[in-house]
Amino acid sequence: MKIEKYTLGVGDRFAHQGRAQLQAILKGREMGIDVHPVWNKSNREHLIIKSKPDDVRAEADSAVAALGWKGAYHVDADHIGLKTVDAFIAGSDFFTLDVADFTGKAAEEEAVNAFSKSVSQYSGSLSIPGIAQPFDIAEETVRRAAGKFLLAVQEAGRIYRHIGKRKGPESFITEVSVDETDAPQNPVELFLILAMIAGEGIPVQTIAPKFTGRFNKGVDYVGDLAQFEKEFDEDLSVIAFAIREFGLADTLKLSVHSGSDKFSIYSIINRLIKKHDSGLHVKTAGTTWLEEVIGLAESGGDGLEIVKEVYAQAHEHFAELAAPYSTVIDIDPDKLPNPKSVMGWSSAQYAEALRHVESSPHYNPHFRQLLHVGFKVAAGMGSRFTDALEANEAVVARNVTENLFDRHLRPIFA
Ligand SMILES: [Zn+2]
Repeated sequence: MKIEKYTLGVGDRFAHQGRAQLQAILKGREMGIDVHPVWNKSNREHLIIKSKPDDVRAEADSAVAALGWKGAYHVDADHIGLKTVDAFIAGSDFFTLDVADFTGKAAEEEAVNAFSKSVSQYSGSLSIPGIAQPFDIAEETVRRAAGKFLLAVQEAGRIYRHIGKRKGPESFITEVSVDETDAPQNPVELFLILAMIAGEGIPVQTIAPKFTGRFNKGVDYVGDLAQFEKEFDEDLSVIAFAIREFGLADTLKLSVHSGSDKFSIYSIINRLIKKHDSGLHVKTAGTTWLEEVIGLAESGGDGLEIVKEVYAQAHEHFAELAAPYSTVIDIDPDKLPNPKSVMGWSSAQYAEALRHVESSPHYNPHFRQLLHVGFKVAAGMGSRFTDALEANEAVVARNVTENLFDRHLRPIFA
């Protein structure tokens, strides 16, 4: 199974926005932007929402049937490992092998030696077409990269073969993700990781490195834009080179686990994928959940009451909700609105504080990030929350579609 050139990952925590999300893809198609949808959900998210991997397949299939989508679409078992993959095998045709937990642990000495030998032809000064400065690849560089990533890539091989035995080896798309690690990977490391993946025989089609800068949940990129641009540009050159050198799939492309809403780098990414004529996968997820909250706020009545309650509870359980996300959120508690005053807010006040419009004086990124991780509160409300989504479907869906199309799909791909 080959992945399409441009794909957009959409996550849908409560499985009610599949059609609204697909509508955004269709709007793109009307403008001649050929993007294919991939519904992604991680094991960790399933555990919080208490949903099952097969629910994502059912949602994707039903959205596609309802809107008469004729193109390819996929269901991504996002961030799975050997321990969690089995429940995803039947319903998914895209697997994100997350081996970040295995990075930084040493592989066997023999394997390191063999890898080092296999790339010895690249040692010294390596010129990669499209990159101005040649890379200096010393024996030490190779061994250090193997020390960080070889064991992880071997683990990815085990997961890939495990899925392959059950589904058939060429019947799905394989992504390898190392984005949830402490340090970003530079282009030389990406090159060496791809060499390891090729050596392991994994037919990787999307690779998710950790990029430089901070990818906080639901808010804009924080980091050096020029540095990001340079590295992303080099990463694209590295991938094109690695496809030729290692015989990797010609569909291989970068996967950006965006954490949603990285508006300031979307234009850079757009320019660079056009420059290199390369493919791209971008994953979003939480941004759709936040649009549900905005839609309920705009609906007024019970919808507004529910999202005020979600905020009040999220505020009360701030420490506990924020803890698992400490590396991907930056919330200043002093800048969070007092839940008692939020109780008095109008629909417009709530929606404007939450909606990600940087130029708006009412936009509050602290409020937004807390609600981003606050979906656990809504999950705890069970059908009271999902009933409200259904009762206010039109307003919620309009926000979901507009957000995905205007603030993500168009700036990234158009
Ligand atoms: Zn990720």
